[in-house]
Amino acid sequence: MAKTILIVDDAQTMRQMVGFTLKSRGYSVVEACDGKEALEKLKNGLNPDMIITDLNMPEMDGISFIKAVRGLTGKRYIPILMLTTESMEEKKREGQAAGATGWIVKPFTPEQLLKVVDMVMP
Ligand SMILES: [Mg+2]
Repeated sequence: MAKTILIVDDAQTMRQMVGFTLKSRGYSVVEACDGKEALEKLKNGLNPDMIITDLNMPEMDGISFIKAVRGLTGKRYIPILMLTTESMEEKKREGQAAGATGWIVKPFTPEQLLKVVDMVMP
């Protein structure tokens, strides 16, 4: 069965690019436009093999979302990758402290994305 990856980003173009890349590798993809929507999906039974989340988003940002996921029963060990920019050192540390597994620096190529995803996928 295909592994499922939840993509959380308020930028539709980014969700499309990441989604297209992951689907080309055979992953199944679920999208959410911010942390709040993603959290709802997880609470409603979605059980992805990995989560990739943006940090700057309306409603619920990435750091709050990561903290919330780690507080959910059964969601403690799902790998979570953050989408960051080079200048976001502070946010990277905050994200790791919140329970993120790693990060991908924007902008990135499909090949770079798949390399990190394959490395972290359980
Ligand atoms: Mg954003």
